[in-house]
Amino acid sequence: MAETSEPQAPVASERWFRSLLTNISDTVSITDAAGRLLFTSGAPNNLLGYDTGFWSGREPMTLVHPDDLERALAGWERSMAEPGVEISEEVRMRSANGTWQDISVTGVNLLHDPEIGGIVVTSRNVTDLRRAQRLAASQARVLELIARSEPLPVVAEACLELLAENGVSGRSSIYLIEGDHLELSAGGAPVSLVEWMREAPPSPDRSLCDQAIATGGPVIAADVETVELSDGLRYIAENEGIRASWSQPILAISSALPVGSLSTLYDEVHEPSLHERQAADVSCSLMAIALERAETEAQLAHQALHDGLTGLPNRTLLLDRLDHALARRERNRADIALLFCDIDRFKVVNDSLGHNIGDQLLVAFAQRFRSVVAPGDTVARFGGDEFVVLIEDITSPTHAVQVAQELSEALAQPFLLPAGKEVYLTVSIGLANATDHRTGDAWLRDADAAMYRAKEAGRNRLAEFDTEMRDAAMVRLQVESDLRRAVDRGELVVHYQPVIDLRTGRISGAEALVRWQHPERGLLGPAEFIAVAEDIGTIHDLGRHVLEVAVTSMSELDPLRNGRPFQLGVNVSARQLSTGDIDRVVHSVLERTGWPGESLLLEITESALLHGIDGPMEEMTRLHELGVSLAIDDFGTGYSSLARLGHLPVDQVKIDQSFVAALDRAHDRLGRIVDAVLAIAEALGHQTSAEGVETTAQLDYLRRAHCDFAQGYLFSKPVPFDEFARLLESDPRW
Ligand code: C2E
Ligand code: MG
Ligand code: MG
Repeated sequence: MAETSEPQAPVASERWFRSLLTNISDTVSITDAAGRLLFTSGAPNNLLGYDTGFWSGREPMTLVHPDDLERALAGWERSMAEPGVEISEEVRMRSANGTWQDISVTGVNLLHDPEIGGIVVTSRNVTDLRRAQRLAASQARVLELIARSEPLPVVAEACLELLAENGVSGRSSIYLIEGDHLELSAGGAPVSLVEWMREAPPSPDRSLCDQAIATGGPVIAADVETVELSDGLRYIAENEGIRASWSQPILAISSALPVGSLSTLYDEVHEPSLHERQAADVSCSLMAIALERAETEAQLAHQALHDGLTGLPNRTLLLDRLDHALARRERNRADIALLFCDIDRFKVVNDSLGHNIGDQLLVAFAQRFRSVVAPGDTVARFGGDEFVVLIEDITSPTHAVQVAQELSEALAQPFLLPAGKEVYLTVSIGLANATDHRTGDAWLRDADAAMYRAKEAGRNRLAEFDTEMRDAAMVRLQVESDLRRAVDRGELVVHYQPVIDLRTGRISGAEALVRWQHPERGLLGPAEFIAVAEDIGTIHDLGRHVLEVAVTSMSELDPLRNGRPFQLGVNVSARQLSTGDIDRVVHSVLERTGWPGESLLLEITESALLHGIDGPMEEMTRLHELGVSLAIDDFGTGYSSLARLGHLPVDQVKIDQSFVAALDRAHDRLGRIVDAVLAIAEALGHQTSAEGVETTAQLDYLRRAHCDFAQGYLFSKPVPFDEFARLLESDPRW
């Protein structure tokens, strides 16, 4: 069983006290009234590195730094005047190796105490503590500069000050990597050395800084005479009186890769102390923080002015450049021009291929733009599929047109899609020369108006701005805002044009055609608003509305109740096909009205079925599966390949009216296309319908050629529902 023992009080002998005093970290000494040392606890050799013998009879005051002496003596005086009171001071004292050490001293005057009869002085070496504190304070100061986003050279200067404040005695400089060389950022390095580092070919023996960067660690030449140096460098060292050199790489925070170097040069042989190296480490990491932060800020600034996807200048930067270009033009009287480019039907491409591929296409587009446009000119991404080119040095009257042509040609090359497919895109371009424009904004609006004219004229072309376009642009803006409300306000009406079965000569169907009963402008045809509706997305509501009205109205008619076959044609826009809910819309309308699927003919214009894009095809297949009939509208205008036509799930081909019109002109070869289309359709097993039949000659021709259906002014213009119902009732024959 363990014996429980009381803790033993140490024996308070004189030896015990001596041992205690010698072993505590503070030094306890007693001096006489004149400051001479009477006793010391033995630690002074720890305190300043002197032998114990050194102290006997010594006046410690003689070791105090001259600048601190006055303060030290004042403390002494006070101690003399106020016996028994603790007086503290901190002074620098010379150590055995000649360096100054921070010593904290506390004295109590016990001259009156008969046991002591002297001044009791407790001293402690606080050099390391003070150094750490000083370094922390310097560091905080530099960090504050960084936090305030001061420019890099200012931070670099502060890092050099930090070194000087923290015991680095040589001449320090900071170099940063720029391109393939190191460039001086701050500090007083000799010019010859800076030039040398800038000009000599990149290699580690160019300088110790380059070596430090190559190795990723400090390179110290405590005596340059004993290290290997290239001739050039040795020459500089001798000329500039460089005796020692110390280089330390600055490593990036995130990647740890070298981004620069801190260099310190000495006139004498010098090995950096631990303390100096700590200061250099702090300095280098502060520089790294500052560099990283500057880079982030530069990135943010870049992001604010550039498009994240293509890296091109964005709308903000473009407007700024335009304003500057206009101002410069005032001064230089030079011609400048703007090209406003909009990719044709990009929304359809984007919707049907998916936005991922849409994005890739935009990036490829941007690259082609850049490859065509001169380096001094600006290519900006203005919006989704809109790009703007600012041409600043117009060299001839046709210069801008040439650039536009080159752009069209570059973009006409097919774009390769991931699965080895190709997509062909075209671009509509509006050109506006700077004339009386005061702001970039106004100038852009003109170029935009010209671009719109190019679209209206059939896309894939260039249109040059003229002042009439300004009015047209105003009208378009108005149309956009009116159209958004037109569906809700019930301003859209549907007219019907009869379709004739050419074998019987009787009406066998109708095409629903939308009109807009505009409150101010009267009845507007689709040409005035369908494209706008597609652009602003209203086409979905519009399409659903027409489908519902047409199917609901037709369900009320007698002939259907009599069981006579009747087909209702409704136009479907490419955008409706590409966004994927048309099949649900159709399904619900059929279900609600009981209208048979095969009696609904959805008409899709051929040009909507763009090369290389399968989106509409999938949607068409789904519609077909609902039992709905499908027609390719305006056939002959969209350059479909035969192979593609064979794969589409269609029932009918509608021959575009331009070809029908050509039938009347005896020598017009376009008329021969009608024969060709009829032959192709027959071969593929599709029904055929001819649009725009206006003359009996055309009718006769089509009949002889075994075209199945026809519609046109010869039979009837599109008419309101009631009128159509009466026409159907009268059952005319042609
Ligand atoms: P489309 O589908 O090819 O319609 C035939 C167009 O030819 C109609 O023009 C019609 O009025 C016109 N037309 C008919 N017979 C003749 C004729 O003998 N001579 C001439 N010169 N023209 C004739 P409209 O109504 O102006 O429609 C133009 C286009 O607008 C349509 O072409 C169609 O692509 C589109 N559209 C009409 N309604 C809708 C709709 O509800 N939705 C969609 N997405 N597009 C529609
Ligand atoms: Mg049609
Ligand atoms: Mg048509």
